[in-house]
Amino acid sequence: MFSWLKNPWKKLGDSAFSEEGAEASPVIIPRSDHGISRANISENALKVLYRLSKAGYEAYLVGGGVRDLLLGREPKDFDIATSATPEEVKQLFRNCRLIGRRFRLAHVHFGRDIIEVATFRAAHEPGSDAQVNDSGMLVRDNVYGTLEEDAWRRDFTVNALYYNIRDFSVVDYTGGMPDLKSGRIRMIGDPRQRFREDPVRMLRAVRFAAKLGFLIDKECEEAIRELGYLLEEVSNARLFDETLKLFLGGAAVETYELLRHYRLFGQLFPETDGCLAEEKHHFPHTLLLHALENTDKRIQQEKPVTPAFLYAALLWEPVRREYEILQGRNMPPIQAMQMAGDAVFARQVPRVMVPKRFSLQSREIWEWQERLKRNSGKRALNMLEQSRFRAAYDFLLLRARNGEASQELADWWTRFQQTDEAQRNSMLRSSTAGKGKRRRRRAPRKRPATPRS
Ligand code: ATP
Ligand code: MG
Repeated sequence: MFSWLKNPWKKLGDSAFSEEGAEASPVIIPRSDHGISRANISENALKVLYRLSKAGYEAYLVGGGVRDLLLGREPKDFDIATSATPEEVKQLFRNCRLIGRRFRLAHVHFGRDIIEVATFRAAHEPGSDAQVNDSGMLVRDNVYGTLEEDAWRRDFTVNALYYNIRDFSVVDYTGGMPDLKSGRIRMIGDPRQRFREDPVRMLRAVRFAAKLGFLIDKECEEAIRELGYLLEEVSNARLFDETLKLFLGGAAVETYELLRHYRLFGQLFPETDGCLAEEKHHFPHTLLLHALENTDKRIQQEKPVTPAFLYAALLWEPVRREYEILQGRNMPPIQAMQMAGDAVFARQVPRVMVPKRFSLQSREIWEWQERLKRNSGKRALNMLEQSRFRAAYDFLLLRARNGEASQELADWWTRFQQTDEAQRNSMLRSSTAGKGKRRRRRAPRKRPATPRS
């Protein structure tokens, strides 16, 4: 797997691992000893790198871009680190916008493609511009620094490798190269302190381990087990972004397993986690796994995936239970499903925010589980034409596969979509195959005579 590396380790001295890392000199891996080729770097990222460099600034590709290229994977995006300040970057690029409060960043726009350019930052020091709250969490860290300082304040060693556009070498201050070779997610510095500064790093550790098939370093692991509860302090909006990265990154199944393993899943989805923990049989776990498998498959096939479906699956078990309770109180099924969905979202959203446009769709998917049972006559044709149908049907398939919805009903809908009009009509006449029950026409209700005045 690592044949492309042509043994860069021979150059590694102990300095890369020294305790007082900030004083260590970097290991420089020349172009001839690593596999990053400019042919695999996006044209736009190269344009930005070259222009910064020509203007006299230092410019490096960093983070996931370098890590993934070294692993022979296609990077998700290309991040750039530079000695130029955001304002200086803006002066160089007309198509540039400055964003961010917590971190001030330059976004260089090329149509829909955005290249993120960050100025080298230093770790915060007491009395510096950086601010830490009572739990040691970084709330602002906008102190510009050198390349070396920038390397040491990054999260994991494999994320702190820099590709230098001047000579195409890779610069490694923190021992990222050997960790990349041995498949290790290792925190730069003391994991406990770094997780306290930013608890989201725990989720990032899991995400990278799952995506790359790496092992999380032992010290890091222990810190995660100890400090998972700190995620409670992270804003629900940031956790929404992170959950999308966790579950829509193509390795949702591994990510889910690892999150459960490190007891972080419960920090994000406490109610679902509660259901999974107490479950003697494995139905909810299996439904979720199948949903995540489908998600991974769709991403692999470059088919669209929606957060609404993901959330419908993630929260289904608590919704299903609430629904059963409400139905037990004789509430009509559709109403019970609506109320169950509302209640579960109301309890979930303080933890992980879900924008309305997605939560509404998830609620529809749930509600439609009831509607799809009523597959007689015109109603079935109407449903088929609606945009919500596909997701609701996919969810029904998942439930049927899991033994909690009628397979007969799921098959009926599958056939109904596939057949021609004539056959559809005949299916409609004999429909409710899934339900085995025909709706009876209601006799007109007699109104109690109201006295008129
Ligand atoms: P991905 O493939 O998901 O883009 P990535 O490693 O590039 O992975 P980004 O979120 O794009 O992740 O961040 C870019 C780089 O910025 C990281 O590689 C890391 O060096 C640094 N970074 C990001 N988030 C943090 C954080 N919370 N703490 C410290 N460093 C971070
Ligand atoms: Mg990135």
